[in-house]
Amino acid sequence: MGKRGRSWQEQAWRRRARKFLREDGLMRGNISMRLRVCGKSNCRCAQGQRHQAMVVVYRRANRTTQLYVPKAWEARVRQWVKRYGEVRELLEKLSGIYETKVRHRRD
Ligand SMILES: [Zn+2]
Repeated sequence: MGKRGRSWQEQAWRRRARKFLREDGLMRGNISMRLRVCGKSNCRCAQGQRHQAMVVVYRRANRTTQLYVPKAWEARVRQWVKRYGEVRELLEKLSGIYETKVRHRRD
């Protein structure tokens, strides 16, 4: 056991979560690609060659929303979504530790 009776495993997970939180943004959702038309009548998409566009699909207040991501933002949004997933996974693991404490009535 390390400080405040936390296991080394728990401390490692907390440290990792803090590292992710210190970094740049994070965002909940799933990345998906869509084909869309831009609306310009002289564009290739008007002839059926639609544009690839990235969206982030997420649920909020029981509604599914998809948010279009501008081309120039795609790389950073991918990072934000990935980072959210990493932090979430660590929180799940940490939560599991405390779930076990309650189950076994152990401090
Ligand atoms: Zn177009």
